[in-house]
Amino acid sequence: TPLLQAHGLVKSYGQTPALRGVDIEIGEGELVAVTGPSGCGKSTLLHCLAGILRADAGSVRYRDREIGTESEAARAKLRRTEFGVLFQFGQLVPELTAAENVALPLLLGGWTRREARRVALLWLGRFGVEELADVRPGAMSGGQQQRCAVARSLVSEPRVLFADEPTGALDVLTGEQVLTELMQVARLQGTAIVLVTHDARIAAYADREVALRDGAVDPTGLGLGIGS
Ligand code: ADP
Ligand code: ADP
Repeated sequence: TPLLQAHGLVKSYGQTPALRGVDIEIGEGELVAVTGPSGCGKSTLLHCLAGILRADAGSVRYRDREIGTESEAARAKLRRTEFGVLFQFGQLVPELTAAENVALPLLLGGWTRREARRVALLWLGRFGVEELADVRPGAMSGGQQQRCAVARSLVSEPRVLFADEPTGALDVLTGEQVLTELMQVARLQGTAIVLVTHDARIAAYADREVALRDGAVDPTGLGLGIGS
């Protein structure tokens, strides 16, 4: 059975429909690209799958839980323990150093400062930015900041990483490098990734593409034209 499974998701913002009945499945360790033009509902779908946003109708199952109807507290705990999130920008806390930023999820999870820092340094090292441990985001390049953000999104070893245009603020080459590094580490960890993108080059790295159009899965399945 799939790790994460949504069925018949419907979501509107007032009168604006964003999702009109979306079905999607994410397998254990699978990398699925959610693609489509701006405004087609990609971010809304991601937020519903991650339990950040409650859909108006439909179900979201994670393993043996129906998360769509769980309390905000239960979903917040799930996001802390099982899920990771990665966005385009504005995610690092500017007042904190790279090591402090990456250690943050561990500290929230009750780790000691010393252990959290040790593991944070390990993760910074995995993305080649250990030397930035005591540097604040303002003094880093965009690629360096995003590598730190990637390290932070994985430090809790999530089962699923939700990534919304994670390389959208970087130049093409840096974006592809960061994404390739992210995917290698995710594969080793067995972390599934739901990757929202409108960029065919980025989507081409996925195992599978789910193309959205006007809040529904494109039945032609052609999307950006990758995968099987
Ligand atoms: P995408 O990520 O594909 O650009 P979104 O999920 O952000 O699509 O948006 C889907 C639709 O919902 C769009 O018409 C968008 O304008 C609308 N929308 C998204 N978020 C909000 C919001 N917070 N309030 C009102 N409308 C929203
Ligand atoms: P993305 O396509 O990555 O979601 P957007 O610029 O569409 O980026 O959305 C950024 C934020 O603005 C999101 O939190 C989204 O929910 C919100 N948003 C998007 N469209 C609208 C809208 N029409 N009205 C209000 N908020 C919106």
